[in-house]
Amino acid sequence: MTSYADFHRRSIEDRDGFWTEQAQLIDWQTPFNQVCDYSKPPFANWFAGGKTNLCYNAVDRHLATRPDQNALIFVSTETDIEKAYSFRELHSEVQRMAAILKDLGVSKGDRVLIYMPMVAEACFAMLACARIGAIHSVVFGGFASHSLASRIEDAKPVAIISSDAGMRGGKVVPYKHLLDEAVSLSAHKPSKVLMVDRALSDFPKVAGRDEDYATLRAKHMDTLVPCEWVDSSHPSYILYTSGTTGKPKGVQRDTAGYAVALAASMKHIYMGVPGETYFSTSDIGWVVGHSYIIYGPLIAGMATIMYEGLPIRPDAGIWWKLVEKYQVSVMFSAPTAARVLRKQDESFLTKYDLSSLKALFLAGEPLDEPTATWISGAINKPIIDNYWQTETGWPIMAICNGVEPAATKFGSPGKAVYGFDVRLIDETTGEEIHEANKKGVIAVEGPLPPGCLQTIWGDDERFVKTYWSSIHNRVMYSTFDWGVKDEDGYFFILGRTDDVINVAGHRLGTREIEESISSHTNVAEVAVVGVADQLKGQVAVAFVVLKDPSVANTEADAKKVEAAIMKVVDEQLGAVARPARVRFVHVLPKTRSGKLLRRAIQAVCEGRDPGDLTTMEDPGALQQIKDSVVS
Ligand code: ATP
Ligand code: MG
Repeated sequence: MTSYADFHRRSIEDRDGFWTEQAQLIDWQTPFNQVCDYSKPPFANWFAGGKTNLCYNAVDRHLATRPDQNALIFVSTETDIEKAYSFRELHSEVQRMAAILKDLGVSKGDRVLIYMPMVAEACFAMLACARIGAIHSVVFGGFASHSLASRIEDAKPVAIISSDAGMRGGKVVPYKHLLDEAVSLSAHKPSKVLMVDRALSDFPKVAGRDEDYATLRAKHMDTLVPCEWVDSSHPSYILYTSGTTGKPKGVQRDTAGYAVALAASMKHIYMGVPGETYFSTSDIGWVVGHSYIIYGPLIAGMATIMYEGLPIRPDAGIWWKLVEKYQVSVMFSAPTAARVLRKQDESFLTKYDLSSLKALFLAGEPLDEPTATWISGAINKPIIDNYWQTETGWPIMAICNGVEPAATKFGSPGKAVYGFDVRLIDETTGEEIHEANKKGVIAVEGPLPPGCLQTIWGDDERFVKTYWSSIHNRVMYSTFDWGVKDEDGYFFILGRTDDVINVAGHRLGTREIEESISSHTNVAEVAVVGVADQLKGQVAVAFVVLKDPSVANTEADAKKVEAAIMKVVDEQLGAVARPARVRFVHVLPKTRSGKLLRRAIQAVCEGRDPGDLTTMEDPGALQQIKDSVVS
């Protein structure tokens, strides 16, 4: 077995040799003649000269070896529908959808916007686009008309695929009026809207524009639609970042690099084996859904579970029941989901036979130590934190157990993943940091490995300016996250670069302070922000959700809890990191993907306009922050 250090070193030093080997994990129609064309940095063109197809790799190529094996398992605890599609059935459904798209006038290079709940047809739609070379832009089904309109305007789709409604916690969430409103708000109008009618909510139809999926599908039961072979660099999709730090950016992904990166990650990071089942609890509206609900597992010949519902309904055992039923071997979720489960009775997690499960992967935000310890104890499986971004499409940092098994360290998403030449940079000097445990900006030397963003959709200049121009005197990709690396090469993420707090000249990561506060036994969740202060430049202010809020009911009690929390920080990090105020709220403002909206909290604290809030989950949460600041 190769040591991981050698594996990583080779991926950087013998980049072409390394990726030529990984490229064997997918099927090609025309082989590439250049591994990486980096003649126009920072634009990287991977596997130049080659032709392939994502849908072919995810579906068609498995027909010879595993036609009757489960490919897509759709489970909805909202509508009580559970249906498994074999690779053969998925192949048929995708061709039907592809035929419909062609009828609607969609051809290669056209954009198709997918605004759908977590239903099997959304998966067919994504794969059908890939099949005919159309570029999908999936917009999270929970977004309202304003967010949707800006994405319609940016991507200019020829067609939109949608549904009458989604469901959440037993309640119908109608989509169609939001879609119609978004189209009227947008300067660009799609010529066709394909409606997948779930019979959950009545909706008006626009004559000449709106089409019914079931009707068109019936016409195409046996229609064959061959895969369109596209150049390696042909865009496969556009996907917007979560909007945590500002206006979302439209990430553009290629075809071949993405397929190779995912195939390799399934082997080296997730250790998924063909024939096994992968369960990612994310949503197709996010990057995890693209890479590890749809494309990654299917490319690897695994069955993938698509789940519509909450993690705690009908009870907190539902996900683990599915693990037992479908013999899930790899599971992927987010720390925010683990924290939701932590508020429930632990026995729900231990009730089921989890022997098929090899590991639980978590990503998307910092995994705090108490949550990690709790969930690993509850399910008794390795918990693997991995760090990445919508931009990268797959992990920058992880433990690559498929290469060489290694220990995890709590609070760390592991080491730099092969292909990523990760550096820590001193923000002020632009110098590289070589010492262990010294804080810096996490940056990546170009070219980014296969699978990462090609550019920002329609805006090469913004791509270069945003990601490659922020590091003093160097053309390097900035993650805009801040971290440290220990003696063993394990990284620790300290927060976003714009979340760094400067208290009287001391630079503190919000994450460090949050981690410390969350070790107080009564703290369920916490957000720390830096607030402008005349004397110190900035001070830290903490917003805390208590497990038992009754202990801070009166003002005097709240003061006591505040003092106790400050004491924890004093003891762990020193008085310099002590928040100036600890305020208690019932809920924290988050994006729909569960990320803390620190910039909005900070703006409210400083009396500024909180900016773009279109991706916010619960507007009431920000009001609570406002109220607590005034009180
Ligand atoms: P935007 O770029 O629009 O502001 P966003 O950065 O939240 O939104 P995503 O691409 O969904 O959009 O999230 C990536 C970010 O999430 C990372 O840059 C990092 O800040 C955070 N993150 C992801 N995984 C981890 C992890 N394992 N540990 C700590 N932070 C993580
Ligand atoms: Mg980001």
